Amino acid sequence: MCDRPVASLKYVGPQKAARLNRLGIQTVGDLLWHFPRRYEDRRQLKELAAATPGEIITVQVTIKAWEEKEIRPRLRLFRALVQGRRGSGYALWFNQPFIKRQLPAGSEVILTGKVNYRGYVPEIQVSDYEALGQGDSGLHTGRIVPFYPLTAGLSQRWLRLIVYLALEEVQGELPEILPPSLCQRYRLLPRYQAIKYMHFPPDAAALHQARRRLKYEELLVWELGLSLSRWQREAGLRGVAHTLDNGLVRQLIASLPFKLTRAQERVLAEILADMEDPRPMARLLQGDVGSGKTVVAAAAMVKAVAGGWQAALMAPTEVLAEQHGQTLQKILAPLKIPVAVLTGSTSRAGREVILAGLATGRLPLVAGTHALIQEDVTFKALGLVVIDEQHRFGVDQRAALQAKGQAPDLLVMTATPIPRTLALAIYGDLDVSLLDELPPGRQPVTTRILTEKQRAKAYQLIRREIEKGHQAYVICPLIDESDSVAAEAAIAMAKKLQEEVFPEYAVGLVHGRLKPAEKEEVMNAFREGKIAVLVATTVVEVGVDVPNATVMLIEGAERLGLAQLHQLRGRVGRGTAPSYCLLITGNSQAARERLAVLASSQDGFAIAEADLRLRGPGEFFGTRQHGLPEFRLARLPEDGRILEQARQDARLICRENLWQQPEYRQLYLAAKEKLASLQL
Ligand code: ADP
Ligand code: MG
Repeated sequence: MCDRPVASLKYVGPQKAARLNRLGIQTVGDLLWHFPRRYEDRRQLKELAAATPGEIITVQVTIKAWEEKEIRPRLRLFRALVQGRRGSGYALWFNQPFIKRQLPAGSEVILTGKVNYRGYVPEIQVSDYEALGQGDSGLHTGRIVPFYPLTAGLSQRWLRLIVYLALEEVQGELPEILPPSLCQRYRLLPRYQAIKYMHFPPDAAALHQARRRLKYEELLVWELGLSLSRWQREAGLRGVAHTLDNGLVRQLIASLPFKLTRAQERVLAEILADMEDPRPMARLLQGDVGSGKTVVAAAAMVKAVAGGWQAALMAPTEVLAEQHGQTLQKILAPLKIPVAVLTGSTSRAGREVILAGLATGRLPLVAGTHALIQEDVTFKALGLVVIDEQHRFGVDQRAALQAKGQAPDLLVMTATPIPRTLALAIYGDLDVSLLDELPPGRQPVTTRILTEKQRAKAYQLIRREIEKGHQAYVICPLIDESDSVAAEAAIAMAKKLQEEVFPEYAVGLVHGRLKPAEKEEVMNAFREGKIAVLVATTVVEVGVDVPNATVMLIEGAERLGLAQLHQLRGRVGRGTAPSYCLLITGNSQAARERLAVLASSQDGFAIAEADLRLRGPGEFFGTRQHGLPEFRLARLPEDGRILEQARQDARLICRENLWQQPEYRQLYLAAKEKLASLQL
């Protein structure tokens, strides 16, 4: 029933159907899930004569007489003398030539609109009307009335009527998909009723219950899909039990120039325990910027390699993949573990050597970009997959790398903390390890909000730091989706800084339009201290580690989210010297207040929460490919509690194999479908 095309409904011809398609509505089901954007309470009938000027009211009146006149070209007024129970007045319509025929003198009508007075005579400018005793009466007035997202050529009245008719038609045929046990436990409205109340709620409480029921359903379907996908991936698969390590992990830790933090030790223990278990690991490592995730990942990789398995680390950009490769090469050199780096710009010959090494197992460890998931890359025995900046990859890309081994363990990392609600929504069934402590000796990054006029002060500070032997970043953030505008800005900025501001120092430039090899060259020069001031677009955002850089200036800071700014700011303050972050912004009060959150906090988790609340989940990541579905009703973080409940229930349904029972059948199918639609 719900799968029937909308055009099968009465009053929906091909033209209207095409317009509905523009709203994403193809089927009757889509129409029912096209929920109102807002409602107006028109239950209280008022008296025209009792309205205050400017008030929007609903009244019941009788049409007495019509008059019509052209106010100016293309603006035609239709004015009716109307009689209420106590007193009379006028009702006004504009440019609606049919109205006189629809509501002839003598009609009883209900009107909603804004009231004004002409002298002592009330006039209602009609926004909605309804003739009593006609087919659709009771839909547009005298009730809580829905208002829908529309597109050109569709009217609220028409859509209301169509939705109403669709509801009538599917009555009794709209299947419940939640099992009775869950409906009872949470006292959920039956599905049909919930949908009906979403469109035509009898009162506010009914609307609330309808929303609660449908949000829970939506989140449960999603979480169950995630749980099932993990369950299926693992079903019948024996994962790798990484038991042997010959003391190599301990040796690695002993060889580091620092002691692990307590948080690093705890998290590493969680990961190693997971790895020793034959059940495939699926763990998310969350930590604030600079909390030291890389060494933890390195230790996990050593554990895999020591037992004769291979490990692969995938990062979203070449800059980051190269850097991980270099870090790993450095810290694994004492253990004599070779590390290969495979990216899109690896030479053809180099690539052949690496592919052969991975296929034969001679190469135990590789860091790389998407290049790792190309078809011709094969592993002899891939036992551990590490994914950095998880949210920049699609679910399928992660799966593609895993598929190169036999149920390898999976460790995913995020570059900045993600608020708990979002993490649950995206990572569903991953176990979570938290690095909630920074290495000792880190000083908070002094953060200042500056206006254009204070720019000279910012340059002074940069100069002072360079004179002490330190280095600086100047960031020109992304303005639109393509990096090209930002690149222009960065090029101009670098020129100006080199020629006018810091002629005696080396100014470098890195942006998205450079070739990967060129980028790498600049980054290396910066790492080696050959560049004093690095002008960059947000490409440095991801995990660049140059401890000697102590100051970062960010242009147009108001354009970036707080979490992203915090992530950028994390590029400085990585050594022991005091560090600075200078945010240049306009005079907007709102922007300054938002940035003030950053200036007063160094806690990435708190900043992420604030950012999510201020900008919503879509903006939070600043990229589309974050794996978060667009929920129709559920809103994060507001619906976090429903989400937690749904996740718990989904895990239980999976663990206890409840989904195999008939009463879970519909829910199971919905979850599968949801997941399939996302992996296309
Ligand atoms: P992130 O978690 O942001 O990826 P990194 O792994 O890049 O952080 O680590 C940031 C810096 O801190 C690196 O230079 C790393 O060598 C250093 N580091 C990591 N762990 C410790 C520690 N326990 N003590 C001191 N420095 C550490
Ligand atoms: Mg990192």
